[in-house]
Amino acid sequence: MVKDTYTEFANSSLGEKITKTLGLPQPAKLRRYRPEAPLIEGPTVVLGSSEASDILADQLVSWDLDVRRHVGRREKVAAVVAVFDTAQTPADLSETVLALGGLLKQLKSSARVITVFRDPQGNEDPAVTAARKGVEGLTRSLAHEMRAGGTANGLILSEELDAAAPSVSGALRFLLSGRSAFVSGQFITVQNTNGVLPDEWTQPLAGQVAVVTGAARGIGAAIAKILRRDGAEIIAVDIPAAGESLAGVANEVSGTALQLDITAEDAGDRILAHAEQHYGRLDIVVHNAGITRDKLLANMDPSRWDSVIAVNIESQLRMNRTFLESELFNRPEAGVGPRIVSLASTSGIAGNRGQTNYAASKSGVIGMVSATSAQLEARHGTINAVAPGFIETEMTAKMPFATREVARRLNSLNQGGLPEDVAETIAYLVSPAAGGTSGLTLRVCGQNLVGA
Ligand code: NAD
Repeated sequence: MVKDTYTEFANSSLGEKITKTLGLPQPAKLRRYRPEAPLIEGPTVVLGSSEASDILADQLVSWDLDVRRHVGRREKVAAVVAVFDTAQTPADLSETVLALGGLLKQLKSSARVITVFRDPQGNEDPAVTAARKGVEGLTRSLAHEMRAGGTANGLILSEELDAAAPSVSGALRFLLSGRSAFVSGQFITVQNTNGVLPDEWTQPLAGQVAVVTGAARGIGAAIAKILRRDGAEIIAVDIPAAGESLAGVANEVSGTALQLDITAEDAGDRILAHAEQHYGRLDIVVHNAGITRDKLLANMDPSRWDSVIAVNIESQLRMNRTFLESELFNRPEAGVGPRIVSLASTSGIAGNRGQTNYAASKSGVIGMVSATSAQLEARHGTINAVAPGFIETEMTAKMPFATREVARRLNSLNQGGLPEDVAETIAYLVSPAAGGTSGLTLRVCGQNLVGA
């Protein structure tokens, strides 16, 4: 991993003065999740006067947070939850928006703003839809305005969903916590009442078995470690050539290693056989293994195109078919059914020069999760994708210095994310508390402005 020396410098006392004077980017040290640390430190202000705002405030109180409806002008604020669920027309937004604006100068570092509103696609009335889309727009813009490591994200409730649904609490908690440190300007939709809150928030995956592909290094190794920390048993998969580092990761997470090329026809069957033999169950699949073979399309050769498509998407489609036919990957308990998370990329959303093959595969992942969602729902399960932006890994360390420095700073947090940031988002999506969210692609990119 390449060290981000600029961020270290900007966080020293001399560096802070110099970067401020010169008007240079000021990447803050982000508040990241630690199981032993409080969820959030300082007052959380809940704005809005609907029934949902009362329900959410009660939920926050039940987590022992310092919940307020108002704060003094000089008080520092750790988080604001702005609830807009009853807006009927854009003019209805103003009271809560302006109250939110009045608090922004009082935010602590790594503060959180969470807007809560109903799904814009859930209503046919033009004024209601305009109001809801309006909250999306203001949330995205506010995310660009946040300072000192703060983020702004939206929590979207489907039309009739009760704000007390477990997955609403789960999403709210994720967005408040350090788990979402590198998630900004994004939206989590909760569609239904599936999902359950864990007995123990630090061990949400206790007793579950997870397979992570491409686990020998980079983001995959971080996913294996974080799912383990959250209580899961880990099956770490990677190609035989990465066998030594794979064994190292498997040992570190007290899991088992499976050397396997995921493009093999029988990859899904081999994973199921391994899970059956060692654990007797399989609950979570993380399709993380991926490759890049960048070339302009004018110079593209069959091996570069075909290998990227084969590893990044065809293998996942094939394995999912196998998993979804298996009774091993089928937990009948409502809300905690099987989970699949797949790695997309911001290149699959915005496109990127030299990456037609990679972007095709990653857009394919986004389409695949949305189209597979109904099959998972039938098993009380979920499938989602995570789209990382610039993440500090061996992959991005190979970029030329100037390109890397530009890619790293061009987001609202002015820094690259860490593999752990991607892993924390995946850990949330596979947790029982996220059972009401499926078919979604969630970006972990610090709200970056260009494709990765
Ligand atoms: P990486 O190259 O460091 O690690 C990928 C791992 O996948 C390697 O251990 C590799 O051996 C394994 N792998 C490759 N082909 C395989 C195969 N056929 N079978 C089994 N294992 C195989 O990559 P990373 O940066 O950790 O990225 C992980 C995922 O995140 C990828 O899907 C990547 O496209 C995605 N991603 C990364 C970034 C980033 O900034 N690093 C950004 C967006 C998306």
